[in-house]
Amino acid sequence: MEETFNIQAIILNRHIFRENDSRVLVYSKEHGKMFLVARGARSIKSKMAGHIEPFCLSDLMVVRGKNYNYIGGAKSGNCFRELKSDLKKLEVAGRSFAILNKIIKEHEVDPKLFFLINDFLEALSDINKNIDSNLFLHAFILKLICQLGYRPELYSCVICRKDINPNNNYFDFKRGGLVCSSCRKNSLTIHKDSIKLLRFIVKENFKNISKLHFNKKISLGAIKNIVLFYNYNFK
Ligand SMILES: [Zn+2]
Repeated sequence: MEETFNIQAIILNRHIFRENDSRVLVYSKEHGKMFLVARGARSIKSKMAGHIEPFCLSDLMVVRGKNYNYIGGAKSGNCFRELKSDLKKLEVAGRSFAILNKIIKEHEVDPKLFFLINDFLEALSDINKNIDSNLFLHAFILKLICQLGYRPELYSCVICRKDINPNNNYFDFKRGGLVCSSCRKNSLTIHKDSIKLLRFIVKENFKNISKLHFNKKISLGAIKNIVLFYNYNFK
């Protein structure tokens, strides 16, 4: 096995580890989620520190160690400064990464997930209007769920398989999709525009999602169902 290897990684978080070191959690294109140790990263003189801050996209050289893998060198490609100067955006990114960390296991390689996270940071960083942060956070959760293989069925009824008509449907989070008006036993319905919103999130990239304008009731309807779906599958 080689002593060193290079990865492209998104820094998810960084914690104090031993006196002067940091323990850095990353999601890398090549190896998925990894914990790495950055020696001396807490010292003022560290040249590396700025390149391994949370939410940076960085090229890292990793040195294999006996107990830990170490960061031997780091160069940041994009530090998303517009994101870091906005508390609302920072909160969305922080909460998204907490969920990501919770449901992704170490060393499960998925380059598409890496690009999804990068697109998410880029779009979040670029938004310059007042952001519907709750919707954007839940859009991330839904797209993450889809990427992990739990894409909800939003076009045909999960019971009779017929096409979904706009009205009187129900989102059955246990069955993983919409139930049509004929099959629906539950009295709760999902608004046709909330269905549209869910479909849009699943289909479109974060840049397009960031341009969305839906009224509060519609976006809350979609968010409620994303939460139920997430909790059922991952909690
Ligand atoms: Zn049906």
